[in-house]
Amino acid sequence: MKIAIYPGSFDPITLGHLNLIKRASRVFDKLIVCVMVNSAKKPLFTVEERLAQIREVVARFDNVEVDFWDGLVAEYAGAKGARVIVRGLRALSDYEKECQMAIINKKINPEVETFFLAASEKYMYLSSSAVKEMAAFGADLTDFAPRELIAAIEERIGGNKKP
Ligand code: ADP
Repeated sequence: MKIAIYPGSFDPITLGHLNLIKRASRVFDKLIVCVMVNSAKKPLFTVEERLAQIREVVARFDNVEVDFWDGLVAEYAGAKGARVIVRGLRALSDYEKECQMAIINKKINPEVETFFLAASEKYMYLSSSAVKEMAAFGADLTDFAPRELIAAIEERIGGNKKP
């Protein structure tokens, strides 16, 4: 069974992430979307909230699981019997950071390969940060965030803005 891990912050999950999940789930037998702790980012949603949000929007994919890992993704992959880490490449700016991470992960676990999927044209410039920024300005999130999560994102951003 070919298992792949798709790690990320998913704070919150966007239509760009979802597009990647849909495409990767067609290539691998099982895809595990894994919420990772990124200490450099102050999250808008807790890990538990993000897990629930992702579970809700990936429920329609039979071979997609959702998990959380508070450690190294290369070690997580080993523990799950996964040989592949899936990452998305958007504009050129993702490239250097992603290559560096792929090399580090390979050093930690030589069995693991990082597969990059090019972002779809439609989502090339979409990020969780952009969604949060748009929400802060009251923009319509329909084309950017999963429909089921829009109200929660708007509410959280609105709440954060209050003095
Ligand atoms: P991280 O903090 O690990 O970068 P993110 O949730 O920001 O977590 O992103 C997880 C992965 O999804 C990264 O590989 C990122 O490049 C990819 N990604 C994010 N947004 C998109 C998008 N719009 N299209 C394709 N890939 C994306």
